[in-house]
Amino acid sequence: MKFERYDISEKIKQSIVELGFNKPTDIQFKAIPSILKGEDVLAIAQTGTGKTAAFAIPIIHKLLRRNKNYNQNAIRCLVMVPTRELAEQVTKVFKQFAKYTDLIVLSMYGGVGQAEQVEELEFGVDILVTTPGRMFDLRAQGHIDISETEILVLDEADHMLALGFIRDIRDVVHHLPRKHQTLFFSATINEEIKDLAYSLVVNPIRIQISPKDPVSKNVTHALAYIEMDDKRFFLERIIKENSDKKILVFVRTKVRAERVQKAMERVGIETLAMHGGIEQENRFDILEKFRNGECNVLIATDLNARGIDISGIKIVINYDLPDVAENYVHRVGRTGRGIEKGEAISFCAEEEKSLVKEIEEFMHKEITIMPINKSEYTLTKVLAEKVDTNWQKLVSDAEKQEAEWQKKNKKKNKKK
Ligand code: ADP
Ligand code: MG
Repeated sequence: MKFERYDISEKIKQSIVELGFNKPTDIQFKAIPSILKGEDVLAIAQTGTGKTAAFAIPIIHKLLRRNKNYNQNAIRCLVMVPTRELAEQVTKVFKQFAKYTDLIVLSMYGGVGQAEQVEELEFGVDILVTTPGRMFDLRAQGHIDISETEILVLDEADHMLALGFIRDIRDVVHHLPRKHQTLFFSATINEEIKDLAYSLVVNPIRIQISPKDPVSKNVTHALAYIEMDDKRFFLERIIKENSDKKILVFVRTKVRAERVQKAMERVGIETLAMHGGIEQENRFDILEKFRNGECNVLIATDLNARGIDISGIKIVINYDLPDVAENYVHRVGRTGRGIEKGEAISFCAEEEKSLVKEIEEFMHKEITIMPINKSEYTLTKVLAEKVDTNWQKLVSDAEKQEAEWQKKNKKKNKKK
């Protein structure tokens, strides 16, 4: 089945062609017809399977059939997502598919001025993409009319649950018209998510894509035993050998991210870093630089492991193994997206070996061990260290020069 054979507006088909989508992914194939029919949908599909288009395409088609009597200011479709970055991303996807229509898509999230956002609402918005927190505020203040909302989407519902947004979500749902269509999308499922889902949907169509295999089959997995202090040498080597590829490096903490970034800087590798210490206004910039290839290496913490869709990430490196096995899945899910292929490489130090078992159990799959023989291991270290010492010498020479220069300057100033 190709997209061209779907019973959807030509306007949408045109943008699908422009995006280069040919065939629907599994989740799209299963979800689109039910959504078009107006059924509630409960969909579980691992990350990277194309969930956004699975709801965006049929929603746009449905909203094109405008009901003349509706209130101009009422929001017709409300999409809730866990983070601001995702709000931007999902909005972009909606805008792409709605390019040849006159539907208005808007994203709203905390951390940016509310006044401007409220002003935009007054012009009338068809599809609003927002985080539950901001939605709660806006609705409570009476800025948002959801009394005529036809469709509610909960995207990355598992993540929203983890972030504690349940009450905000319930509050919003309480104010929707009794009859509305609910589309519930999640990458993982457990009892708590099921409870939430079933409290929101009515007789849903349940779609689950390969639940036994939480990672896309497009990703290959490899693991190398590398001591903690040697990891940077191997990272340097991989980056240099793949300088044309987009690489995402995961570390455990903000401090580690900064440290790895410095270590790479010392050997002449420019990287971007993304962690809890980065201000919101800089986050979009950083992601954009990585997206558009201005810089090909991003060092991130798990904070950014979920949902983010940047096409063309060829390699995900687990510089540190994740503490929680599930996060491995979210991390490596940043590569091999849609129909692309990807590679995941994990650096495992002695003290991290127990985590590997947990990850393998979670994935129902073993990770191939990348053999690094002793001589290669030493070579990588020696080569890197050589550059490193040269650098250190350069830096210390520069520092000495600077100190001398300052001394001289002081003397001069005194004379004056
Ligand atoms: P998910 O929400 O399931 O994690 P996304 O909706 O972010 O996944 O989509 C992942 C990637 O797959 C995106 O880059 C998207 O453009 C691409 N993609 C989605 N559907 C298709 C398709 N039918 N054909 C080709 N690429 C697709
Ligand atoms: Mg998604």
